[in-house]
Amino acid sequence: MRNNKAAASAVRSVTVLGATGSIGDSTMDLLRASRDRYQVEALTANTNVEGLAKLAREFGARFAAVADPDRLGELKDALAGTRIECGAGEGAIIEAAARPADWVMAAVSGAAGLKPALAAVDRGATVALANKECLVCAGDFFMQRALKAGACILPADSEHNALFQALGSGNREELVRVIITASGGPFRTWAVADIEQATLAQALKHPNWSMGQKITIDSASMMNKGLEVIEASYLFALAPDEIDVLVHPQSIIHGMVEFSDRSVVAQLGAPDMRTPIAHCLGWPDRIVGPAAKLDLARIGQLTFEAPDFDRFPALRLAYDSLRTGRGATTVYNAANEVAVAAFIGGKIRFGAIARLVEATLNDWIRSGNLAPLSSADDAISVDHAARNKAASLLPQIALKAS
Ligand code: NDP
Repeated sequence: MRNNKAAASAVRSVTVLGATGSIGDSTMDLLRASRDRYQVEALTANTNVEGLAKLAREFGARFAAVADPDRLGELKDALAGTRIECGAGEGAIIEAAARPADWVMAAVSGAAGLKPALAAVDRGATVALANKECLVCAGDFFMQRALKAGACILPADSEHNALFQALGSGNREELVRVIITASGGPFRTWAVADIEQATLAQALKHPNWSMGQKITIDSASMMNKGLEVIEASYLFALAPDEIDVLVHPQSIIHGMVEFSDRSVVAQLGAPDMRTPIAHCLGWPDRIVGPAAKLDLARIGQLTFEAPDFDRFPALRLAYDSLRTGRGATTVYNAANEVAVAAFIGGKIRFGAIARLVEATLNDWIRSGNLAPLSSADDAISVDHAARNKAASLLPQIALKAS
């Protein structure tokens, strides 16, 4: 056991990118519980100026940034009478990440999180990475940049955090595979025809986790699990065949690692994002987490099922794009962001989300666009082009029934 006394007394400066979101909320909750141990350097939001200003005042942040460039005046008004510096626009979000905080939570949603996360990585910060899309979008390149800068990437996503904890039980040569669990989402037992017609309200009813809108829809399509498979591959340098998905409806076991002696090491906990975030915040020590104590006797049963790649084609497409490489995972993510926005906007059926992703990927490969990504600009330009391609394919996908 380590002696935690030194760590417990040190004040840590922290920045939360995406402070007004679901992960941001859980992070602020943990910071609130130990106010004297953390100094908040910067907080960011997209458009929610009111929520951002409230948090910035409460935590005495040094800098608050909103991505919407038209809201600078509103933010300044909301922070009038304080010494908190304000910024607006994408550059201000990147500036927030670049400011000297020891620990950064990267919880902007979507590919928009890539540049800010890289700004924190490039100055060698400890980055708790919740934003899976930026890894999926930038691929190997993100981890290479982190290695070069000496940044420490801590996975905040519950499954990857579980793997991170379990991986410490053996070394790379002894590893056989990792197993990422999936709740199966609200449509786990639904027939294909019903999944096709699912409404937004139905897609937003996650059985176990309370999360932001985009990731909740991704969980219903199992696109989220697909993104997680890709994320695990880049984070831990694993081949697609070394990553399995296991449906586990209770969401108690978050991830497992199998070693050569056939030992399987798992991490368990109540489905509460504050646990993996607390692990990242305390790392390499452990802090007190506020989640409910795990009561396995009350839960009674933990059950498991193989994933159904036919009813949830998004998962199959994730493995395909990972095997294809050369920007295919960037296209997978970009097309999904377009598809989810179209579904939320009532332009396509739920079942068409995966069809749009598949059509975009096929078109991309057919057109000979695959090429290795070697910079953030490469990743961003593939992301933009794939979004345009997905948007152009949208009308024909919208018309086509399954
Ligand atoms: P939310 O939608 O709840 O919050 C997103 C945050 O990012 C908000 O602060 C939002 O600001 C901000 N934001 C959105 N778009 C932009 C933009 N273009 N530029 C700058 N800031 C922006 O998302 P979640 O908290 O659910 O998820 C965040 C990330 O963490 C995602 O990548 C998700 O996949 C991942 N994740 C989430 C989990 C969860 O339990 N929620 C679990 C594991 C991973 P505003 O409030 O103003 O819109």
